[in-house]
Amino acid sequence: MPGIFDTKIEFLKGVGPQRAVLINKELSIFTYGDLIQHYPFRYEDRSRFWKINQLSRDLENVQVVAKVKKLEILGIGGKRRLVAEVVDETGSMEMTWFKGIQWVQKKLPIGAVYVFFGKPAQFGRKWSIAHPEMEPLSQSREQRNSYQPVYSTTEKLKARFLDSRGISRLQEQLLALTQNQIRETLSTELMNRFGLIGKKEALKEIHFPSSGKALQAAKKRLKFEEFFFLQLRLLKMKLTRTAKSPGQILSNTDLLNEFYANHIPFELTNAQKRVIREAYRDMKSGKQMNRLIQGDVGSGKTMVAFICMLLAISSGAQSCLMAPTEILANQHFEGLKEYADLMNLKIALLTGSSKKSERSQIHEELLSGELKILIGTHALLEDVVQFKNLGLAIVDEQHRFGVAQRAKLWAKNENFLPHVLVMTATPIPRTLAMTLHGDLEISVIDELPAGRKPIQTVHRYDKDRSLVFSFIKKEIKKGRQVYIVYPLIDESEKLDLKNLMDGYESISRAFPEFPLSIVHGGMKADAKDYEMQRFVKAETKIMVATTVIEVGVNVPNASVMIIENAERFGLSQLHQLRGRVGRGAEQSYCVLMSKYELSKDSRIRLDTMVRTNDGFEIADVDLKLRGPGDMMGTQQSGVTDLLIADLSKDAPLLTLARDAAELTLGNDPDLSSEENRPILNQIRTQKKHAINWSRIS
Ligand code: ADP
Ligand code: MG
Repeated sequence: MPGIFDTKIEFLKGVGPQRAVLINKELSIFTYGDLIQHYPFRYEDRSRFWKINQLSRDLENVQVVAKVKKLEILGIGGKRRLVAEVVDETGSMEMTWFKGIQWVQKKLPIGAVYVFFGKPAQFGRKWSIAHPEMEPLSQSREQRNSYQPVYSTTEKLKARFLDSRGISRLQEQLLALTQNQIRETLSTELMNRFGLIGKKEALKEIHFPSSGKALQAAKKRLKFEEFFFLQLRLLKMKLTRTAKSPGQILSNTDLLNEFYANHIPFELTNAQKRVIREAYRDMKSGKQMNRLIQGDVGSGKTMVAFICMLLAISSGAQSCLMAPTEILANQHFEGLKEYADLMNLKIALLTGSSKKSERSQIHEELLSGELKILIGTHALLEDVVQFKNLGLAIVDEQHRFGVAQRAKLWAKNENFLPHVLVMTATPIPRTLAMTLHGDLEISVIDELPAGRKPIQTVHRYDKDRSLVFSFIKKEIKKGRQVYIVYPLIDESEKLDLKNLMDGYESISRAFPEFPLSIVHGGMKADAKDYEMQRFVKAETKIMVATTVIEVGVNVPNASVMIIENAERFGLSQLHQLRGRVGRGAEQSYCVLMSKYELSKDSRIRLDTMVRTNDGFEIADVDLKLRGPGDMMGTQQSGVTDLLIADLSKDAPLLTLARDAAELTLGNDPDLSSEENRPILNQIRTQKKHAINWSRIS
């Protein structure tokens, strides 16, 4: 049954069909429900009035009460402007309009007293405000408010008198009309326990705050609610799955003990040990494991993966590892083969370029159970790849795989879903991780192996290139190797290549004495591989490349990373690229080259890179700069449905909401109690709307 909040916006008094179309289009507001959730994005203090002689440069928007003394149109043609001279008892100033001149002229009779609002600027001695908001003093009573809401709107809407004030007037109407039909969506128990005000009060206070305190309470309540329903949904998914999915019990530790006693090449870090324990607990629990391992570049995820594989194999199961690219799959294979050989375990590599004969041998040995470990790319997902008993599937760089692909992995074992470990080197802040991967358990390797020297990062402008080149020379003479990376601009592969080739040429001119490698996306796999191998064997000293080297490549002797046009890269990409160095015993360096003129965001990105090596801190800044909507995987998670809550700023509330969701489902998994009725109703309403949405878009 549709409720009043499903009413189309055109039926609200003062809107009408024409403006409704515009509101639909400009703000994606279709119904009363959409409008009431169009919350102010900030509030302005309108309790304070300024005298003209009090104005100063550092003021933001101010409110001035003044009388219109003179109106004149200056300039000609497209440069015409309307200038009103206005006065109060302390002086005179100007209000200026470049658009809507006729309308304003009619509205401002000489001698009228108005409240003007806007940002003052000074020209010569004279203060002036361009396009002020204005209202006759007599009508402005409700403006004298410390928390005047400010709504986002657009130029087109403003031209139809739907500026922020106009929207506020609609909200006033709407609240008056609907206030008795606003339904509570949380249980009384939750509201009491977490100190939350009711929904009805919250909606009123968010649009028309009666005090600062009331506004805070309203924000808390509405943000909490958004987080709560998001978490509730994710937890519910998780519960449904774990209830359904028993897991193979993999508890034998014989192989692990043998490896530990005889072969392990280094002492594990405490973080590695902890994460292995967490995975082991899952694998022997009888329930299917779905665990995400977050670990910064170089934190040693490969070893953790191998030890988990040993646990699976010890109990008679097989395991596989899937990587997003062939280069990365290769690298994993090389690394893991070394360990597997020590343990006499059969391991194989399966990618798009595996030969037919290799393939059929792999298929056979997988079925017989002889092959214990399979490394590969998407090729692993093909239906012909069947295991005797796949116990553990590991996915590296998870964000490039969709849920559907994970499901394909699950289907590889008919008796039990294989345990799944997802490894990512793209650290995301815990708050975001909890939400994005609310259906996964999370482990964090938050410690790097001892003895690593932190990478030194500097930012240099293009004009200082010669200094950077002599630094490169010095390092190579010390025996090191160097990466020089060029950005990849997706729109034009040709342009990228030209950029790279120009760079390559100038580098070969600058360093005629050093052999170079070059790798880019347009090369055939074997040519790429050949060049990579020359660099790995230190036959070449400089690797000129596009971002194809971003993931995977491990050349411990390469200790210098030069990133060209660094301002064009995103933060997480810069961090990934930097992670290619710092893998050996020597001091490593990262040089970020950029042009001189930088946007504010670019500067923040580069400064952040210079300041810290901590992937989590970098991810936090990234989240703040880009907002969660742009980050990988957020689209399907429901994070982008958040209207008022902000993952990067409201982390503590998210944690509370998570607790609340756990508590609620813990006591009443089906939400069937009378107490939880409001919650259940809200979930049903949301479901209905989700369906509407998919029809619209
Ligand atoms: P990533 O987490 O980026 O995949 P890797 O697994 O490639 O990191 O490990 C990076 C390097 O650190 C490798 O050369 C690996 O052998 C080494 N390594 C891993 N764990 C340790 C450890 N506990 N002590 C010393 N070196 C380690
Ligand atoms: Mg790795």
